[in-house]
Amino acid sequence: MTQAMNVAIVGATGAVGVEILSCLENRNFPLKSLKLLASARSAGKQVSFRGKMLTVEELTENSFEGVDLALFSAGGDISRQFAPIAAAAGCVVVDNSSAFRQDPDVPLVVPEINPEAALNHPRNIIANPNCTTIITLMALYPLHLKFVLKTIIASSYQAVSGSGQHGITELENQVRAIADGHPFTPSVYPCQIAFNVIPQIDSFTDTGYTKEELKMLNESRKILSLPDLKVTCTCVRVPVYRSHSISAIAQFERPVSVEEARKAYDGMPGIAIKDDPATSTWPTPLDTTCQDTCLVGRIRKDLAIDNALNLWAVGDQVLKGAALNAVQIAELLVKHD
Ligand code: NAP
Repeated sequence: MTQAMNVAIVGATGAVGVEILSCLENRNFPLKSLKLLASARSAGKQVSFRGKMLTVEELTENSFEGVDLALFSAGGDISRQFAPIAAAAGCVVVDNSSAFRQDPDVPLVVPEINPEAALNHPRNIIANPNCTTIITLMALYPLHLKFVLKTIIASSYQAVSGSGQHGITELENQVRAIADGHPFTPSVYPCQIAFNVIPQIDSFTDTGYTKEELKMLNESRKILSLPDLKVTCTCVRVPVYRSHSISAIAQFERPVSVEEARKAYDGMPGIAIKDDPATSTWPTPLDTTCQDTCLVGRIRKDLAIDNALNLWAVGDQVLKGAALNAVQIAELLVKHD
């Protein structure tokens, strides 16, 4: 018999939180109760769920009494402060922030890739990986199973909703201001995002790479259990509302062919091929917006690197990159834990 859970969403009013609610509803997640938590700003707000109105409550240290599972999507600072409190109250936390992803006692899970990792969570915390890393690995994992990954060279094209509701509002306001001929001052991004691209996501480290770019390296290694995997990446913000795209060159231990690569996706969950150069068929961010399935296209043999494929991956980063992946982890817990 399926065990119904008492669930809380921390950050229920945000870009990811709202999608977590939809995933719980659409996937018929077994719930005994659902608590919506956010800041004092949102306390009292009414949200519809399964035909009933739920009231958003302010997050406090006492919010987790009687809660079995807490899905956190309120940023790293809130996770660092409140996830250990929730875990100590006996609640399992699935955390969307980067706060615990490199903790050796916190599994980092993509259910299609390393589901077994979710069942060993000694700190009562499970981390949801970085959104760009999830979408990239959804496209590369079927190939890894066949050819064994050695190196990833990638550039990302990341939507503004990756910065949450503020990123969406910034792009909307700038597009409107430019159309109306009004001046504006960028506030979310370091420069204008409308009709522009910005080659910086998150802050720089002393390696010259941004934190976002190093997440691709460190998180790919942890999820795939490949400590020597080489990854180099440039992460770019683009004026797209939703869905991240990644141009990736993947080098493998074994020789590759495009035909075998295409076959590798047969029957793989969560990823599909959209690829026909003869008819200019390839995936775009609009194709995956509000869709659970990631898409891969432009699969070709790389001309510069041996045993390598060059491809284009796209996925809804609010869904598979965050809310959906978190709910899939919760479903693993319901099934096995
Ligand atoms: P967002 O749209 O800005 O939403 C933030 C949420 O956190 C809101 O519900 C907000 O509540 C709540 N919050 C803020 N301060 C709080 C406080 N002091 N106490 C309680 N709740 C508070 O952000 P988001 O894009 O959903 O991102 C949430 C998390 O998911 C972040 O860690 C982000 O890195 C991660 N993530 C996001 C994406 C994405 O595509 N957006 C993808 C992967 C991972 P109020 O409405 O009351 O302010």
